[in-house]
Amino acid sequence: MAGEIEKVAEWIVCSKRIVVFTGAGLSTESGIPDFRSPGGVWDRYNPEDFDFQRFLASERSREKYWQMATEMYEPMKKAKPNLGHLAIAELERLGKLDCVITQNVDGLHLKAGNSPEKVIELHGTALSVMCLHCRKRYDRDEIQERLRSGLGAPTCDDCGGPLKPATVSFGQAMPEKETAEAFLRASLAELLIVIGSSLVVQPAASVPVAAKQNRAKLVIINRDPTPCDRIADAIIRGPAGSSMAAIVEEVKKRIAQEA
Ligand code: NAD
Repeated sequence: MAGEIEKVAEWIVCSKRIVVFTGAGLSTESGIPDFRSPGGVWDRYNPEDFDFQRFLASERSREKYWQMATEMYEPMKKAKPNLGHLAIAELERLGKLDCVITQNVDGLHLKAGNSPEKVIELHGTALSVMCLHCRKRYDRDEIQERLRSGLGAPTCDDCGGPLKPATVSFGQAMPEKETAEAFLRASLAELLIVIGSSLVVQPAASVPVAAKQNRAKLVIINRDPTPCDRIADAIIRGPAGSSMAAIVEEVKKRIAQEA
């Protein structure tokens, strides 16, 4: 693995447009469960209960959704960036990051110090709530406070529409601007590094493919195999945090030697 870390570090030093693509596996070391690992979200909940059409279907299903969303929000709110998030923020400080495209909704890239203009949140953010009718935004903690008072599924103060965390559920439309930006940046990348994603959730999982089709080098850092492994130029099958930290340390060493 040391050889792979050195190889990826060298590619980072030599590349100008570097895109990082992250998934839930990056945040497991911060105590936020991913979807598909043992003990992950799908071991505890039925994926169908997260479906957007089901959310729209009835007051009862919205109440159930908010119950599950509240349980998932608590560890997310307390979570701190881990070595992996910090290493990605360090890449930005080194001038080595075009952008981070993240499927995560936990806000940890921003907490780690990446600038908002460098972070594309493809699946939205759990730190905000949005009215599905008039799009008014609310702070998540304000809505959690309302839920604690036991008033059932929350509704909009202005129009009475249903409120939902500002995340993209299964069956819900992707944000147009972020999706277009993600595919554009990926297609212009020289190097795209996937960290902690099973690469099975579409259309997000097509972002690394778009980079590769436009001749970027593709690196995958993930504990389990992914459907894109066969097109990857390097695969690091290790923990996201320490692997990224080791890569960025190596990058810094090489930059210092060149100076
Ligand atoms: P996923 O659950 O499908 O896959 C996570 C992958 O990460 C797995 O392949 C696993 O092997 C790997 N992994 C787990 N811990 C790891 C570690 N410490 N080091 C290296 N690899 C590790 O997640 P996904 O691909 O991101 O897609 C699922 C959807 O989950 C996304 O749309 C995302 O919005 C949502 N999600 C987000 C969060 C979050 O914001 N933190 C949490 C759960 C789910």
